[in-house]
Amino acid sequence: MRYISTRGQAAPRDFEAVLLAGLAEDGGLFMPETWPVFTAAEWRSMRGLPYAELATRILLPFMGENIAEADLARMCAESYASFAHAAVVPLAQLDEHSFALELFHGPTLAFKDVALQLLGRLFDHVLARRGERITIVGATSGDTGSAAIEACRDRAAIDIVILHPENRTSEVQRRQMTTVLSANVANLAIQGSFDDCQDAVKAMFNDAPFRSEMKLAAVNSINWARIAAQIPYYAAAALALGAPDRPVAVSVPTGNFGNVLAAYGAMRMGLPIERFIIGSNRNDILARFLAANDMSARPVEPSLSPSMDIQVSSNFERLLFELLGRDAHATAEQMARFRAEGRMPVPDAAWRAATARFAGFTLDDAGTLAEMRRLKHESGYVADPHTAVGTAAARAHPGAREVPVIIAATAHPAKFPDAVRAALGEAPALPPHLADLYERQERFTVLPNALEPIEGFVRAHARRNA
Ligand SMILES: *Cc1c(COP(=O)(O)O)cnc(C)c1O
Repeated sequence: MRYISTRGQAAPRDFEAVLLAGLAEDGGLFMPETWPVFTAAEWRSMRGLPYAELATRILLPFMGENIAEADLARMCAESYASFAHAAVVPLAQLDEHSFALELFHGPTLAFKDVALQLLGRLFDHVLARRGERITIVGATSGDTGSAAIEACRDRAAIDIVILHPENRTSEVQRRQMTTVLSANVANLAIQGSFDDCQDAVKAMFNDAPFRSEMKLAAVNSINWARIAAQIPYYAAAALALGAPDRPVAVSVPTGNFGNVLAAYGAMRMGLPIERFIIGSNRNDILARFLAANDMSARPVEPSLSPSMDIQVSSNFERLLFELLGRDAHATAEQMARFRAEGRMPVPDAAWRAATARFAGFTLDDAGTLAEMRRLKHESGYVADPHTAVGTAAARAHPGAREVPVIIAATAHPAKFPDAVRAALGEAPALPPHLADLYERQERFTVLPNALEPIEGFVRAHARRNA
């Protein structure tokens, strides 16, 4: 499989190069040159496979030239053994036709574990073969940092340093990062905001000598391998609900658009997913785009679903590329305009192609709490605020009553105890593997918001290629 950039100015690469590069050098995102497709008979033969085996079958066409099947099978088996549910990504039925796809049984209780657990192992595998090491640096407001740390802890070829804003994450989120005492993991509490942390990470990447000396790498959601690793769970759910012989719909609470893009990928691989419902909180750029072709950025506002407090969804560029008939030149032009003007009217034909498959939905905080109460009363289900945006979106969509709807349940309710308490009067308990989180020893270093001490810390932590 070869990968091409959505902006057309980068040479095609193989999977290994795309995994290590993240972003293409023309600023675009990598996409498979063609989507691998399974026949209906091939999909039927995958029904009932254990999750790790299903993931191996689906992912092999994306990486087969670089990763041997036996190695991929082993990495999938190890990745999904770290999940606390035997089905890895179980379905919970909410009513006659809607099903929560629980993606939160991994080590940090959010769906990012599904992809990152595999990504950490893929990195380690290809780096060991190349005799190289990398240093991952990242900024987090809470969720992504812990999933990245859990994915990279104790990996031989990786050191990881995660910056979080001191005293500005929830205690659960901080402890999920700072109680990982592995030698290759370091946490920095920066005396500043999340934006300061992000700026410091960008400054390190822009410091070319530092970047190459440290072999800096990122694991953010623009990495193609993360999208690929999210396709198998949509396939598992669709197959369980009758695909390829019965169509399904999906409803996805969305931030950077990565998770919904993976569902779209499952459709392109031959599964009958006929509708994509996109749930947003008050940061509703995608809903405005689908309603009225209004793709215009507004300031980010905080909400009860913080992992969706995003205005510019980086992975939307991949869908745009598809909507524009894979015209990289047109995609690059659109993105340049969006960067310059903060808005981009998408050509009418492409916008219509989007609305034929995608539907947008927005829910404010009061609506989110009301939906969490409704789920508890009508289905006995305790949902986190992100998942509740997805279930409300599914209910609001008229077509969703004709086919089964798969709702991406993206976080465990115990990860957002304040919102659950506000909705239901009582916070959920942490699952057994985290029950002692508040007693565990923490380790982190507090640093001022200044590049020099931060780079000095990373330099001291990184083992590089010594
Ligand atoms: C990251 C995240 C999202 C948004 O996912 P995208 O792939 O960025 O659309 C939604 N819910 C939770 C709990 C998350 O952690």
